[in-house]
Amino acid sequence: MKILIVEDEMIYRRMVKKSLLEAGYEIVEAEDGQAAWELFQQEPFHLVVTDWMMPGLDGPQLVQKIRTSGQKSYTYIIMLTAMDDTDNIVLGLESGADEYLTKPFNSRELVARVASGMRILRLEEQLMQARQQMEDLALHDGLTGLLNRRAIEDFAEAEFSMARRKERAMSVILLDIDRFKNVNDRFGHKLGDEVLRQAAKILKEDLRNYDRVGRWGGEEFLLILPDTLLKDAVTVAERVRVRTASTQISLENGESFSVQISLGAACTTGQFSSLTKLIDAADQALYRAKQSGRNRVCIFEPSN
Ligand code: GH3
Ligand code: MG
Ligand code: MG
Ligand code: MG
Repeated sequence: MKILIVEDEMIYRRMVKKSLLEAGYEIVEAEDGQAAWELFQQEPFHLVVTDWMMPGLDGPQLVQKIRTSGQKSYTYIIMLTAMDDTDNIVLGLESGADEYLTKPFNSRELVARVASGMRILRLEEQLMQARQQMEDLALHDGLTGLLNRRAIEDFAEAEFSMARRKERAMSVILLDIDRFKNVNDRFGHKLGDEVLRQAAKILKEDLRNYDRVGRWGGEEFLLILPDTLLKDAVTVAERVRVRTASTQISLENGESFSVQISLGAACTTGQFSSLTKLIDAADQALYRAKQSGRNRVCIFEPSN
């Protein structure tokens, strides 16, 4: 992790540089606040050691710019100051610095403060990762990695409103694996899970990048196709059906086989007053696909 040193006085800049290089850090130097700000905009540094008094942009002003730059990760800032009275120290910290050192500073103290800054940065990084993982968990289904029911529903709701506003068509496809109970009965639940994962993978690979697929429940999946008429949704559904049926799924136990799926499609051109009604329509079409022999695509027909 590179450290940015900002100091207009050559002698102090050298001292800081020497201490940090000896401590094994990589460093970049700037001779005033403006130069530092320009460097920072090209490459946000995670740790900055900056002087307070500098011509042009001074320490507190630089700190403020960094703090309001909207960068994603945190920058730990240590301010070097010749002024050691309490008011100025408070001012420096209030401008957004994390730490301060008064000049002339002790090299070991500088290195120790930098090390403590690094510890805080590492903690922050871990927190960010944990948060990211939580967000992923909240949106995705643990087994298949697809969007979970709530996430696909939220996406569908947003697209449904958009389709209405822009008077465009949006289609939904509900699909269900045929005779999946038999798969579980034959191979056990664990391999059944593996089949679900692989089936999900086929679905995901088959879609355009503005389409979405989510796990609706059990072995049922919901596909949302923005900007798509019913006849085009049927083409997609048919392709997914054929591809699924013709993909050999290899199991950990060495066996391989394929599963078949039934699909029901419906489109907003059918004038549904809500997303729930649209999905209900796809569900009715899916039911017909099951009733009429499975491994097929049916569309919602109001007369039925
Ligand atoms: P069909 O849909 O063709 O009518 O028959 P089916 O056998 O697939 O019917 P049903 O919907 O009644 O059964 C679905 C089965 O899927 C029941 C359940 O044990 C299984 N299942 C649901 N979720 C999971 C899961 O997460 N893992 C595994 N292994 N099985 C699951
Ligand atoms: Mg200075
Ligand atoms: Mg089923
Ligand atoms: Mg089912």
